[in-house]
Amino acid sequence: MNQIVKENLKKIFGFSQFRGNQEKIVDNLLKGNNTFVIMPTGAGKSLCYQLPAVSQEGTAIVISPLIALMKNQVDQLNAFGINAHFLNSTLNKSETNKVKKEVLSGKTKLLYVAPESLTKEENILFLKDAKLSFVAIDEAHCISEWGHDFRPEYRKIKSIIAQIGPELPIVALTATATPKVQQDIQRNLQMEEADLFKSSFNRTNLYYEVRPKIKNETKKQIIKYIKSQKGKSGIIYCLSRKKVEEIAELLKVNGIKSAPYHAGLDQSVRVKNQDDFLNEEVDVIVATIAFGMGIDKPDVRYVIHYDVPKSLEGYYQETGRAGRDGLEGHCLMFYRYDDIVKLEKFNKDKPVTERENAKILLQEMAAYAESSICRRKFLLHYFGETLEENCGFCDNCKKPKEKFEGMDYLTAVISAVKETKNRFNMDHIVSIIRGESNDYIKSYKHDQLSVFGIGQEDNERLWKTVIRQAMISGFLEKDIENYGIIKITEKGEKFLDAPYSVTLSKDHNFEEMVENIAVE
Ligand code: ADP
Ligand code: ZN
Repeated sequence: MNQIVKENLKKIFGFSQFRGNQEKIVDNLLKGNNTFVIMPTGAGKSLCYQLPAVSQEGTAIVISPLIALMKNQVDQLNAFGINAHFLNSTLNKSETNKVKKEVLSGKTKLLYVAPESLTKEENILFLKDAKLSFVAIDEAHCISEWGHDFRPEYRKIKSIIAQIGPELPIVALTATATPKVQQDIQRNLQMEEADLFKSSFNRTNLYYEVRPKIKNETKKQIIKYIKSQKGKSGIIYCLSRKKVEEIAELLKVNGIKSAPYHAGLDQSVRVKNQDDFLNEEVDVIVATIAFGMGIDKPDVRYVIHYDVPKSLEGYYQETGRAGRDGLEGHCLMFYRYDDIVKLEKFNKDKPVTERENAKILLQEMAAYAESSICRRKFLLHYFGETLEENCGFCDNCKKPKEKFEGMDYLTAVISAVKETKNRFNMDHIVSIIRGESNDYIKSYKHDQLSVFGIGQEDNERLWKTVIRQAMISGFLEKDIENYGIIKITEKGEKFLDAPYSVTLSKDHNFEEMVENIAVE
C-alpha cells in the first residue's frame, strides 16, 4: 500500500495500525474495485471509506440512512481537520447551497447524503457536476427486503449512481447480512463481482442466556441481577416507551441508579440521560432500540432484553453493545412466545411481503430463544458462519438440555427433503413426515412417499428442531434463491448413504417452565 495512505492513518486519524480487514479493504477501494464489507458493529467500518476518501482526489459520497448521526460524524471528521459535509433534510436552502459550493470547489473529501436527498433531481444534477472519487453505501442491508431495516429509497441508489458516475467504484458496508441479504445487496447494486471482506461475527467474550419471562418473577430477577453487578454499566432494552418508563421507575424505587431513554423524551432529557450513562452517573440505562446507535461505551457489562427483539439482527446488534472492551459481557434475554405473537400483530397493517418477511425474522428469533443447542452456533449459522465446536460459554452449553439419539430422525428429514427433490419448505417437510394429508400434499402425491407419516408419534415442534439442527450441522441448507426452501447438502447425501449416530437436543419448553415456576 501507498506510504501516504499509511501515514494518513496515523497523521489524520491517530491510529497506529489497521484493524482486521481494514488495510485490505482500503487497498481494494483505492485500486478502484467494487468492495463489499461485512463487519460487526464497532469493528471500524467508517475508516474503510474515510481513509481512501482523504487519500485521493475528489469527493466521496457516503450514503447513510442515519440522519441523526450525520452531523456527529461530520463534526468528528472536521475535528480531525477533514473537509466533510452532509446533505439532508435538516439543512435549509442557503445551508444546502453552501455545501454544494464547497463540494464543487473540490475541497470536500466526504459528502454524507441521506437517500431521500440523493434521489432529488436537483441533487443528481449537482452531483453530476462534482468531481467524485467513489460511493460508499453505509448500512447496505437497508437495500434488502429480507433484512431487518428495509428502506425503499435504497433500491434507487444504483440507478442514481448510473446517472452521476457509472464508473465510480462502490463500497457497500453493513454490520448484519445473512447470506440471503448479502446476495440481495450485491444483485441490487449489480456488483456480484465485488470483492467481499467478511469479518467473523463471533464475539467470544459475550455470554448468551435466555430465561423464561414470567409475570412479576422477571422483574424480581432483574433487580437481583443488577444488584449482584455492583454498579457496573448495563443496558435494558424494552419494546415500548411505556415499558421503559415503568422499568426505569421500578429500578429507581429499588435504589438502582438508572435512567430511561426513548424517542418520546425531550431531546435535552435524552442527551442528559445518555451523558449520565456515559459518565457513570447512572449504572443502568433502560431504553428502546432508539438507544445505542453511534454510542461507544466500551465497558457495558450486560445487556438485558426485557422484551424479545424483532429479529436476530437486532438482537445481535443490541447485545453487541456489551463488552466492547473485550472483557466479559452478559447478554440476558427474557422470552415468552406471547411476545412474538404480540410483535406479529403489530405488522398486520403492513404490505404483504413486508409482513411475511417480518414474520420469518420473528420465527427465527423464537427458534433461537427456544433452541437448546449452543447459542453461538445458532447465531453464527444465522449469519452464514460455521462454528464446529460448542462454545462452552452460553447457557445451553453450561446447562445442556435433554438429548436424544438422532440418527433415525435425521434420516427421516433428510430423506423427506431428498424425495421431494429439494423444492419445499420446513412446514411442508414436517407435514409429510407427520402424515398430514392436506390438499397441498395430495396435489403433489406426497402422501405416497415412503417417508409419509413415519414421524406421527412426535409433534411438529420436535420435527422442526430436528430440521434446524440438521441445517446448523450442515446436512441440509436453505436455498438462497428461493428463500425458505430446504435443500440437501453433500454431507446430507453421505449421511443417507451411511447413517451414523448423532446427538440432537430437544428445544426448551418455555411454556411449561412458566407454568411450573408459577405454581411453585
Ligand atoms: P462501525 O462503523 O464498524 O460500528 P466505527 O467505524 O464507528 O465502527 O469504529 C468503532 C471504533 O473503533 C471507533 O471508536 C473508531 O475510532 C475505532 N477504530 C476504528 N479503526 C481503528 C483502528 N485501526 N485502530 C484503533 N481504533 C480504531
Ligand atoms: Zn455455546
